[in-house]
Formats: sequence, structure tokens, C-alpha cells
Amino acid sequence: MADFNWCHGPQCHEKHTVDRVRGVKGSKVLRTRKVAINKWNSGGVWSYWCSQGCYNDFAKEYMAQIIAIAPRTECLETPIKDPTRERYSNSYHSWYNTEIIVDETRQS
Ligand SMILES: [Zn+2]
Repeated sequence: MADFNWCHGPQCHEKHTVDRVRGVKGSKVLRTRKVAINKWNSGGVWSYWCSQGCYNDFAKEYMAQIIAIAPRTECLETPIKDPTRERYSNSYHSWYNTEIIVDETRQS
């Protein structure tokens, strides 16, 4: 198995950074970045994209196809218990916290 992926950003090879410059004098190119697979990105999206920009470019270009994989035609709901709002304070200020608890008894 390869220890890298080519960045899946559709315009990765068009971005003007010196680390993308490859080739011999007279026939230089901007090349898609390699993304090294390591213990931090293995199995995650950052083993397929070199940057947030390339990730966004991919999402923008392939949005319709991505959505078609699992279209959301109805909302989803998670049953919760009636939320309780409590006031807290210390010597500087006060605040409210609303606790939201999932109602496991109504889980489908
Ligand atoms: Zn990229």
C-alpha cells in the first residue's frame, strides 16, 4: 500500500506555491501535492487533501455527487428530556446553563 495519496483538490496543481514546482529547467510544472499518510491523518480526510482550500474546492466541485450518495430529504430528530435552565454565579458574573439530555427511552 502506498504511503501517500495525491491531494484530491481539483485545482491543487494550479496553486502557485514553490513546493508544487517540479520538473527540469525549461519544462517546469506545478504538480498536485502528495499527502503523506501518517498516524495522525490515517483514515481521516486529511490523508486525502493537502489543505482546507483543496478540501473546499473538492466539496464545491463535487457537491451534487456527494449529496447524491446520501440525500437528506427529511429532517432527523433526537428525542430529549424537557431541558432545564439553571442560573449559576460566582463573584464576578452570573450565567445560565441549559442542560439537554437525550431521552434514551424514546430512541428509535
Ligand atoms: Zn491540494
